[in-house]
Amino acid sequence: MYYDLHIHSALSPCSDDDMTVNNIVNMAYIKELDMIAITDHNSLKQLAYLPLIAKGKIRFVYGVEIQSREEVHVLAYFLPNTILEPIQKFLDDYLIEEPNDEYYFGHQYIFNEKDEVIDQERRLLIKSLDLSLKDIISSIHQMKGIAVIAHALDQRFSIMNNMMTIDENLDFDGIEVSYLFQKDELIAQFPFLKDKMWFFNSDAHRLEMISEPIHSMNEEEFFDLWRKRYG
Ligand SMILES: [Zn+2]
Ligand SMILES: [Zn+2]
Repeated sequence: MYYDLHIHSALSPCSDDDMTVNNIVNMAYIKELDMIAITDHNSLKQLAYLPLIAKGKIRFVYGVEIQSREEVHVLAYFLPNTILEPIQKFLDDYLIEEPNDEYYFGHQYIFNEKDEVIDQERRLLIKSLDLSLKDIISSIHQMKGIAVIAHALDQRFSIMNNMMTIDENLDFDGIEVSYLFQKDELIAQFPFLKDKMWFFNSDAHRLEMISEPIHSMNEEEFFDLWRKRYG
């Protein structure tokens, strides 16, 4: 199953304004991916029309990229039958408040299924939640999600850059790296990571950045992450 589970829509200020759900789904479909997740910063508000738009074209899980107080990014995934409102409320409650300066950071547009702007987020989404990484991971699990440490070795917003180590007691389900060789590098340093599920996503902020059908995963192994945790 070819996948790209880390794609930013135009709701993320740092993304292109043509990253509508329609365009993302169609680009992933043209590229012959089997499954996607749209993972905006600290918000699920772009996902209301995703089931309608993706229907008959591509599979999806719901996703969000959450920033912890330590400025570490963690991806949370939820099954398509999940009710999103309580999760959105959790994000709204903990996001550190700052108005978005759209001239500086970019627009935070929300689109409908016809690519019309129906709303925009006024709070700046590229802030931290006022919670530790550990607490965010346990909150994700309380909401029946799966927690994946994002771009673990990147220079910014990564666990290795900001926390200098990966604590074996952190109860995350998977780990994402930006380059294949980083997997071996991290397992050599932290052998317990070989038992985690590994992800290679695009972190696309522009349409052409969405992954080619290169990285495939075992579908069973992915959904087993939920079965193992929630039965
Ligand atoms: Zn990130
Ligand atoms: Zn990202």
